[in-house]
Amino acid sequence: CGVFGVIGLADAANFVALGLHALQHRGQEAGGIVCHHPEHGFNSARRFGYVRDNFTKASLMETLPGPLAIGHVRYSTAGSKGAAIRDVQPFFGEFSMGGAAIAHNGNITNANALRKELIERGSIFQSSSDSECIIHLMARSLQRNIPERMQDALRRVEGAFSVVAMTRTKLIGVRDPHGVRPLVLGRLGDGWVLSSETCGLDIIGAEYIREIEPGEMVVITEEDGVESSFPFRPQPSKFCIFEHVYFSRPDSIIGGRSVYETRRQIGVELARENPVEADLVCAVPDSGTPAAIGFSQESGIPFAMGIIRNQYMGRTFIEPTEQIRNMGVRLKLNVNRALIKGKRVILVDDSVVRGTTSRKIKEMILDAGAKEVHFRIASPPTAWPCFYGVDTPQREKLLAATMSEDEMAEHLAVDSLKFISLDGLYRAVGEATGRSKDCPQYCDACFSGEYPVTPSDMLEKGFEM
Ligand code: SF4
Ligand code: MG
Repeated sequence: CGVFGVIGLADAANFVALGLHALQHRGQEAGGIVCHHPEHGFNSARRFGYVRDNFTKASLMETLPGPLAIGHVRYSTAGSKGAAIRDVQPFFGEFSMGGAAIAHNGNITNANALRKELIERGSIFQSSSDSECIIHLMARSLQRNIPERMQDALRRVEGAFSVVAMTRTKLIGVRDPHGVRPLVLGRLGDGWVLSSETCGLDIIGAEYIREIEPGEMVVITEEDGVESSFPFRPQPSKFCIFEHVYFSRPDSIIGGRSVYETRRQIGVELARENPVEADLVCAVPDSGTPAAIGFSQESGIPFAMGIIRNQYMGRTFIEPTEQIRNMGVRLKLNVNRALIKGKRVILVDDSVVRGTTSRKIKEMILDAGAKEVHFRIASPPTAWPCFYGVDTPQREKLLAATMSEDEMAEHLAVDSLKFISLDGLYRAVGEATGRSKDCPQYCDACFSGEYPVTPSDMLEKGFEM
């Protein structure tokens, strides 16, 4: 998901809509905005579909006045799949000291246990979302102000959370102690901005100030600006390495590094680790493009657009149902036949999850007359599900959970299939000596199976680590 918030700018909701539009790649199912105006109080709108189709309408935006607003774009990883407007964030709660709204990116790994406990003690849940637990935990807190109630609530929450929240006068940002999901701070005129990624600052012309640190809470008011605190027990930083590989936008900056440059570097490492003779390097667009460019630069094999993407389709993976995902590949990608015919082609993609994309693309490429097809993948084999906010399927559906690299190559019937090594990936994100065995610098659980936060709900359900 993507989260965004603004304080201290007239018609803040308009800025939030733009920010969410820039973060649309983080969630395409639905979006929501909550705002506050000194006279008109809290207002909100939640809609299915793209930001640009909803939050551009003057008739809707007029109902969202005020200098303070937060928003969320949804990609369902927890709670019900697909349609239920009650699952669309931000969530709102009315407390004795006033209202508050929260927008959450990540996944709470003890949400089932918390929900059960809260329901037994009288909470009435409105949605199936794990994030709603935060509101109910806040309601039960005895603290006298909302930021402190949030701290109380979030201390009970396990897993990944980057939260943007608001009261009548405050914009609040928090990252979980491992800092799994991103969150950055920006400045625009007299206003302040919180965004999942820096591309959300760029779109409104805000200046990037800094990242919210793992375990940090910032409380921002128009009068006093940014107040920072660290309310959680410190933990080793475990930023999601897959944000670098796929999830974030290539024009975003993470930890001082350009995501594009990291992906290009992954391609360079990939070409060094797994060279192959061929005529063309092609990307599976868009997610494979920067790595394909890096692969081409390192190998000297020309880069070409062998697969053309229909720009009117969103991210296939993010489609919640299998059927749509299956169709999605053909709706979204087509082979540039004239270019491919008779060629030995290297195809670079960011990841192989179920293998749906790779299988379809291989068929399409061979059908177009390619002589050889070599897959090069910009991440290590995805052998484990993510429980921290990326919607990987159950372990059984992951190709790499049951097959070796060679078996996958055979299964996909390609001439070769190679993945970047975990160390190669760490080098590409700037860790010169590769992955630290004792304490890996990132979360890489979907590749390594080493989960930095115990997925307790899943263990309860029988998941075996
Ligand atoms: Fe990111 Fe993978 Fe960790 Fe999930 S398991 S947070 S996708 S690195
Ligand atoms: Mg892709």
